[in-house]
Amino acid sequence: MTILKAEDITVKYDDKEVVKKVSIDIAKGEIVSIIGPNGSGKSTILKVLSRYLKPAEGKILLEEKDIHKMKTKQVARKIAVLPQIRNVSSDITVETLVSYGRYPYLKFDNRLKTEDYEIIEWAITKTGMSDMKDRMIETLSGGEQQRAWIAMALAQKPKILILDEPTTFLDISYQLEVLELIKEMNEKLGITIIMVLHDINQAIRFSHKIYTIKDGRVYKSGNAKKLINQELLRNVFRIEADIVEDNSNQCLYYLPQKVVASKNED
Ligand code: ADP
Ligand code: MG
Repeated sequence: MTILKAEDITVKYDDKEVVKKVSIDIAKGEIVSIIGPNGSGKSTILKVLSRYLKPAEGKILLEEKDIHKMKTKQVARKIAVLPQIRNVSSDITVETLVSYGRYPYLKFDNRLKTEDYEIIEWAITKTGMSDMKDRMIETLSGGEQQRAWIAMALAQKPKILILDEPTTFLDISYQLEVLELIKEMNEKLGITIIMVLHDINQAIRFSHKIYTIKDGRVYKSGNAKKLINQELLRNVFRIEADIVEDNSNQCLYYLPQKVVASKNED
């Protein structure tokens, strides 16, 4: 069943079209990853899906309703977003950050209620942040900070979680830890996940479905375990690669070999 859908969306910055006639179908309960080279339009697509940007053409349907006919708070109760760049000061505690997740639920007096505090506590526990809840965000490691942000998103009690490159800048062990946490939230809490991932192998391993984006268009989409092949890697990422089986994770794995010579660049 579709939970979120983009229908033929085109997005422009000034006059420049950066997303062109993109259609995306997100099934409830799935992990969907969007991959593609830098500047191909991935973050822009996430911004449109989360109602942060309005497309010049096309529609976004959240549970079959036009997302631009819904109120901000209404959307925020269904979709939590972890953007790539965050404009929140980091001299706040983990608990305070997580409490921001309750904003879409506050009544006119803007005060947290007992139920809100319970949900904040629950989100902190679920993400393994209990021992760190009184720490300042700025004193945490990159991986811990990322978990704190995920806890904030969780406190929003969303049906859908959208993450833009949640593992970039993290050491590999923290990358896996964050991806395992995301997977757990999908499996145990049934949250639908949409994320942009930098690492193609991680996208294959941790997603049900993948969309590949090239120059603002969907190049190909499909089952994450089957989609990637040499032709796709050549055309989308400009690399020659070998594709091997990852038997422990029951999926494919690519090994980059060399860059494909481009006609447009020297
Ligand atoms: P990706 O996330 O795939 O790296 P983006 O969606 O961030 O790509 O950007 C797609 C294109 O849109 C790029 O050419 C980028 O320079 C341009 N772009 C992104 N944000 C803005 C903006 N706020 N104003 C103008 N151009 C932008
Ligand atoms: Mg981006």
